[in-house]
Amino acid sequence: MRLTSHFFLREWVSSPTAREKGIVNSPNAVQLERICWITVYILERIRLYYKKPVIITSGFRCPELNQAVGGTLNSAHRFPTELFTGAVDFQVSGVSLPDVFNFVAFDSRLPYDQVILERGKNRDNEKDNCIHYAIAAEPRGEALLGMTLWQGDYRQVFEPIP
Ligand SMILES: [Zn+2]
Repeated sequence: MRLTSHFFLREWVSSPTAREKGIVNSPNAVQLERICWITVYILERIRLYYKKPVIITSGFRCPELNQAVGGTLNSAHRFPTELFTGAVDFQVSGVSLPDVFNFVAFDSRLPYDQVILERGKNRDNEKDNCIHYAIAAEPRGEALLGMTLWQGDYRQVFEPIP
């Protein structure tokens, strides 16, 4: 299913862990609407700015998948239907993550609850790193540095990072 000119639903739901464990990772209608919202208003704008592919590394996670990948219980990746919230992890092809982080957090004027530059445990493996972007009905505008899946201390930053 195509969501916009540059994004398909499968990019939001496909997961090596889900495949491996046979987890059916399907959003309901409310969750799908919110996934579309983030795709149109956030991801397409980032894609338009860089004119480069935005690669979703983790999008929607049903509760089973969220648990399987070690996500926190209240992770916005679960898209709980009772709240206007949701999250996506991504990279921009050929652009460094600090550059993307600085643009999204400080220049883009995009509405975010949290933008996190997340680093995986393996420092040499850029594949583990991503930008986590979460929305909320009343976005807090928090820009943070930390480790993937809330495994370490998170540090809030208030200006672009080097
Ligand atoms: Zn995330």
